[in-house]
Amino acid sequence: MALPLTAAHRRSIVIAFTTVLIVCYFMTIGREDNYTFSKTLSAQWSIHEDPVVVSDVKQTNETPSKLSSSSKSKPSPFLGNVIPQVSPPPHRANASLVMLARNTDLNGVISSVEQLEARFNRKFNYPWVFLNDEPFTTDFKRRVSVLTDADVSFGLIPRENWVQPDWIDEGRAQEGRNKLVRQGVIYGGSVSYRNMCRFNSGFFFRHELLTPYKWYWRVEPDVRYYCDMDYDPFLFMEDHDKVYGFTISMPEWEPTIPSLWSTVKDFIAEHPQYVSPDNSMDFLSDNAGDSYNMCHFWSNFEIADMDFWRSEAYTKFFEYLENTGGFYYERWGDAPVHSIAAALFTRKDQIHFFKDIGKLWSCRLVFVADPFAGYKHAEFAHCPQGKQWREGHCSCDPNDNFDFAQNSCLRHFMRLQD
Ligand code: GDP
Ligand code: MN
Repeated sequence: MALPLTAAHRRSIVIAFTTVLIVCYFMTIGREDNYTFSKTLSAQWSIHEDPVVVSDVKQTNETPSKLSSSSKSKPSPFLGNVIPQVSPPPHRANASLVMLARNTDLNGVISSVEQLEARFNRKFNYPWVFLNDEPFTTDFKRRVSVLTDADVSFGLIPRENWVQPDWIDEGRAQEGRNKLVRQGVIYGGSVSYRNMCRFNSGFFFRHELLTPYKWYWRVEPDVRYYCDMDYDPFLFMEDHDKVYGFTISMPEWEPTIPSLWSTVKDFIAEHPQYVSPDNSMDFLSDNAGDSYNMCHFWSNFEIADMDFWRSEAYTKFFEYLENTGGFYYERWGDAPVHSIAAALFTRKDQIHFFKDIGKLWSCRLVFVADPFAGYKHAEFAHCPQGKQWREGHCSCDPNDNFDFAQNSCLRHFMRLQD
């Protein structure tokens, strides 16, 4: 049975209902305005229009400089007459942060991205590019994209740039793998590791997600960045006419590259025009190029110019190496391949030692002399010293530094400057 409503009851119900409507209306406006405002600002500061792009292959043909001018501060239609006062976007290099990873690397990827964002990229907002030989899972993309305001893209590597080519003699490749397994060399029996080394040597810079960029910073899962980076290393490279930057250098395992140096010598005999007159042969060799001393820049950190890898000299060099099948018959690493090319085809002052970037690598080492000793987990740290350690708020121990350890190749690099 309905209760009779008095006039006073009816008035209270109408007032309450109207109040709820007004509150809801203002809440909606407030939310929409805030959302639009933050999107507008982030678009102004981000290289790409959409700050987080989650797609399998996102092709961007516009260069950052073009984009930064096209995304200049436009007043938001939602803000009426209020034009936000933002300073012009800082000058940035045409660069991206690049990581090759598997879906199973997710935790290590998150750890590396989190640190690099905190120590460097929160200030600079360089885009991230992740590459994989298999499609990244939705979960991977979601968990990684959330870590940054910068543009993030996820790319699939074309099969032909990854798998062992058909013309490789599989019997001979198998023999090569067995030999390294017998010698106890890490990844000796792995085909996928060889795919990765060949991809990093000859193909990553041609991936469609990377062709718009000139500079890259290579990042790996599970690395540690110890110090704040308060300057832009890409602009540093650009302003000082550098090509290749490293933080750690060390010798390669000889059994993985028995015929690499003779192949390099054949190449430079056939193409002497590519060798720089002011090269860094003394970093690679203790006898003016007769033999290789195994020194190389460790490629799990690289800040470098992809136009160098795309140059005629390097393209010819990679093709020459590729045609021998050494990536599969032996186990040529991308680190010696990159290092040899950078040392021979650039001027020595174009290779830069980033002594102010503090970084830790973990890696498994094998005792070649005693294959039954197994693998040892080793860590190599580069820790900045003195003022750079203090000003970078570095979390590493400055005494724990690989630079002048017995098997560091830094002294070979330093002697170039003498
Ligand atoms: P190491 O540094 O030589 O010990 O080799 P890693 O295992 O660290 O591999 C080097 C880089 O390649 C890392 O970024 C790995 O995540 C990546 N990587 C290695 N193997 C594969 C693979 O089979 N697929 C994909 N997508 N990435 C790989
Ligand atoms: Mn690694």
